[in-house]
Amino acid sequence: LGYYLIIFYEIIMLYHIVQASNDLDFGLKAKAAFYAAICPIKDLPRVILPTGNTPAPFYAALRNDPTNKPFHYLQLDEYHGLSADDPILFSNWLARDVLDPLNITNRMIFNSADDPASEIPRIHQWYRENSRVDLAVISIGENGHVGFNEPWTRFDSLAHIEEMTDQTWDTNCKYTGREVPRKVITLGMAELKLADQTILLVRGEKKAKILADALTGEITPKVPASYLQLQRNVIVIADAAALSRMPS
Ligand code: PGA
Repeated sequence: LGYYLIIFYEIIMLYHIVQASNDLDFGLKAKAAFYAAICPIKDLPRVILPTGNTPAPFYAALRNDPTNKPFHYLQLDEYHGLSADDPILFSNWLARDVLDPLNITNRMIFNSADDPASEIPRIHQWYRENSRVDLAVISIGENGHVGFNEPWTRFDSLAHIEEMTDQTWDTNCKYTGREVPRKVITLGMAELKLADQTILLVRGEKKAKILADALTGEITPKVPASYLQLQRNVIVIADAAALSRMPS
């Protein structure tokens, strides 16, 4: 019976893990997976991209590759209530780091400042009209969040305004070097689930436990990233430290 259970487990494991040996290798492998996902798409691929520390080597690899392919960037999340020229806005960060250098002009970005609450119906409307997402590139928080969908966000949640947990807020303040808003706009789990393909980027020992929980533990909104076990076409790019708690 054990043998059949193992076979069954292999069959239902829809994700594929690619191990990177260092940051440079991580970036190159993420870039290869990224282009393998979007190059076969005939019209402009619609792509969700994350911000944060984790994707930095991936973006460096993209910037260093002159053969890039255009895509339509879909914003994943954003601070709430900051003016459009604030340098810590994720949209500005990503523009500087990736979109401008790659000449990506099609951008579905969130308006953080004017009336964030009215942004939410606009985002819902956009996804109603453009319900195709070709690729979601995401990272994972230490508590299992994806985007800013914190633990216990429903798997059918649409884009919404979320209040960061203390831990997430702390990480964000350290990351930006200043006090950030507590509230954020995030795509919901439902928009992430639209993705035909998903690339999960994970680096470092700090993410090892939550990565193992998300990929091999219970599928539960308590660990939002566990939705990946139900998602088709998932590639996990991770370094050895991040994979160190995965069951062998
Ligand atoms: P990080 O953030 O890449 O900076 O670790 C990921 C996240 O918290 O979603």
